[in-house]
Amino acid sequence: MNDSQKQDFRGYANREIESLKAEIPRLQALLKPVSPDNAIGRLSRMDNIVNQSVAEAQLSKSRIRLIRLEKALKRLESDEDFGLCVDCGDPIPMARLKAMPETLFCVDCAE
Ligand SMILES: [Zn+2]
Repeated sequence: MNDSQKQDFRGYANREIESLKAEIPRLQALLKPVSPDNAIGRLSRMDNIVNQSVAEAQLSKSRIRLIRLEKALKRLESDEDFGLCVDCGDPIPMARLKAMPETLFCVDCAE
């Protein structure tokens, strides 16, 4: 990976990490239990349960992506071969690396 590609990935990963770090506490706030004597009707209570499970799924996705991005950034700085497929040695396309920062394979070898 050349310097401008590194710069590109680093910038992207850092922006993503920033926005995930802002998003995670927002999701955690949504997951705070609502006390039962809160005067909300049965329907809105059910709404609330649905929203909570959506928020819970989103929260775990966000946490996983955050960890993967942080690991990828570390590899970018420490591993000469970052961005190269560990199987065939071809460069992994930037769009693929951004979408799946944990990937070690190019599209062909991943199949
Ligand atoms: Zn490959």
